This record gives sequence, C-alpha cells and structure tokens, in this order.
Amino acid sequence: MNAPDSPCNLSPSPARFEDLVGFELIRRLVAFPTVSRDSNLELIEWVREYVEDLGATTALTFNDDRRKANLFVTFAAQDGNATRGGIVLSGHTDVVPVDGQPWDFNPFEATIVGQRLHGRGVTDMKSFSAIGLAFVPEFLRRGLARPLHFALSYDEEIGCIGVRRLIADVVAKGTAPTGCIIGEPTGMQLVVAHKGKKAWRCRVRGHEAHSSLTPQGVNAVQIACDIVAWIGERARAYRVARRQDPAYDVPFTTPHVGVIRGGTALNIVPRDCVFEFEIRHLPFDDPDVFFADVERHAHSLLPAMQAVDPATFIEFDHLSTLPGFDDDGESRIADIGRACNESHNMHKVSFGAEAALFHNAGMPAVICGPGHIQQAHQPNEWVSLEQLARCEAFMRRLAEHVCVA
Ligand SMILES: [Zn+2]
Repeated sequence: MNAPDSPCNLSPSPARFEDLVGFELIRRLVAFPTVSRDSNLELIEWVREYVEDLGATTALTFNDDRRKANLFVTFAAQDGNATRGGIVLSGHTDVVPVDGQPWDFNPFEATIVGQRLHGRGVTDMKSFSAIGLAFVPEFLRRGLARPLHFALSYDEEIGCIGVRRLIADVVAKGTAPTGCIIGEPTGMQLVVAHKGKKAWRCRVRGHEAHSSLTPQGVNAVQIACDIVAWIGERARAYRVARRQDPAYDVPFTTPHVGVIRGGTALNIVPRDCVFEFEIRHLPFDDPDVFFADVERHAHSLLPAMQAVDPATFIEFDHLSTLPGFDDDGESRIADIGRACNESHNMHKVSFGAEAALFHNAGMPAVICGPGHIQQAHQPNEWVSLEQLARCEAFMRRLAEHVCVA
C-alpha cells in the first residue's frame, strides 16, 4: 500500500498562492486565533454566515460552557435530499498553541515566503476546510446530485473531544452520508486506517523512610520503574510479534510511557510516584488485554509492599480512549478518494484522528489533506503551494462525484 505515488498525475501547480481558489478563505480562517483552550465561536460564526449566504442549513453543538461549538453544514441536493448519501468534508477548527515557539512571523496571519505559506493551522488543518468551502460556489453552479456536508469541530487537538457531540447530533437527526473525508495533513495521500489509542495514569503509593533505612520503606519510584520496565518488555514483544501490518508507518502496536514524576530528595525513600502511559494499537491488538497484563503485573508487586505498610497501593486512572479504524480501503468513500487522487495508493497511519469516530458511527471515513504531519505543531508551520494545488485538484474531481454536471 505504500508504493510511491507517481508525482505528476495531478494538475500542474498554479504559479502563485493568489491563483488558488481557496487562498482568501485560508487567510481568513488562519486569522482567527482558535487555540484549543480559547473560544472558536468567531470563526464558527463567520463560516456559518458564509455558508448560509450560499443556501446551507447549519447546526451547532456546543461544549458545556458554550465557549466553543461544532458546526455541521448541509447543502441539500438539487432534488431537496439533505440526509441520504452524499459526502462530509471534515476539519477541526482548533490549533495548537504558539507559546514559547520561536516564530519568525505573526502565527495568525498567513504569510507567503517563496513557495511556502506560513501560519498556525495552514497545515493542521485549516487549509483543507478553507479550500472545500471555497469550492462550494463551483459545486452549486454545477448542481449537487447528492448532499454535501461540512463538519467543523472544536477540541480535536486535545483528544478529539468536540466532534463526538457533532456526530451524535448527526446520527440522532438521521443524516446518513456515504462517507467522510477528513483533511488532516497526509501530503494528499489517501489514508484508509489509523491506529487506536488508549491512555492511563498509574499512581504508586509507597512508604517514606530515611534512605539509610530502605528496608523500612517502600520505594514508590522503584515500584513504578518496575512496572515501566515491564511495559517496555511488552513493547518489545509487540515489536517482534508475528502478526503485524506493514501498511502502517509503524507496523506494530506501540506501548509507551511519556511522563513520570516521583520522589522529593535523594535521602528520602520516596512515598509517591506517578507515571502516564499509552498504547497505540493495531485493530487486532486489544488495548484492554494489554492493560489487564499491566495491572496483573502491578498487583503481583503488592504483597511485598503491603507487608511493610498496608496503606501502600498501586492504582490506575483511565485517561482517554480513541478508537482506531481499518477497513482496508474497501468503502465507497475510499473508492471516491482514490478517484479524486487519481491514484490507487492507500496508506495507514499511527496517529489518531477523528476518522474512527465517524467511521464507527456508520460514516465510513478516509483521511486526505494538504501538508505533512511533520510540519504541524511546529514554529513557522507551513504548507507548500504544490500541496494546496493538489488539494484543489482533488476538489475539482470531487465535483464529478457530488455534482449533476
Ligand atoms: Zn489536526
């Protein structure tokens, strides 16, 4: 699935950013500083007015304090059908912070330097949404044969939180699109699967003692490290497991420990240690089986701890779950994606996205968007003119699938 794309099968790049259909909209969306912790309502309201002026119906779903919203947009087909079939173009509106990053430009002003466009969100992932929205007048001019939807979400960057409410609302209203294209940066390669992810925190409570009297204490740091080392063993086992999928960029399941905190001073046997870990798993590796193994190992350490102090413990908190999805590119939307890319290549990726949430709610999904994940979340985030041109070529071909003429 990872065979290299023939590079010249898409339209030639326009010479200038200003020649892109979506350039003005990209500039407009980048100018809204929609960092995940802040409100996205100004952007949402701006887009809502834009699409309603073009004849769309819209639905908002808010977060608890109503500072953020998802926007679901529907352009009905010419025959009035607004719910059956059709395609969802999906993007998150939030961006990661710029705090502490050495930017050479105003992050919230799209800035052209040669063949690159800089700005927070130009890659991850406002350009895809902007280009899709900019093509609506063209889609409408040619007449929609089936509904066209946009799903713009909040709080993707902090765990695909917001879109869950949008999807629940769409399902409750009986809207049943053929599929969903999520414009996360894939270099405009068609991605038909991503791994699932589950994360936990482990809290180890030991027993403090003077470090000259270690047998009278329970060293929480060492207990935690024992469990961490055991997770490392599991990681090695997945790495050499017979069942892998070479279509993924990382072809095996990967447990990982990312944070550990413990102890207060070298001369104190530490009382507390906390670490956080995750597993990014292939569809056939069950994250709960992995977790049960970790828990079993942790519990095997308890008798020796509690012989010193019955108040010691090892506890786990579940932090997050993001399902994966993988249908090997068998869906209708994968067919459409291949046609719009004029390529049979398909890829599978290890990073999570909203795709699985749509997919598991009965809206088969693919991921395909301009820019590369390596350029996301970086200072001076950028996207190339060539990538944006490819995205526009994709939209032109999409018109053949959603339009009458
Ligand atoms: Zn993203």
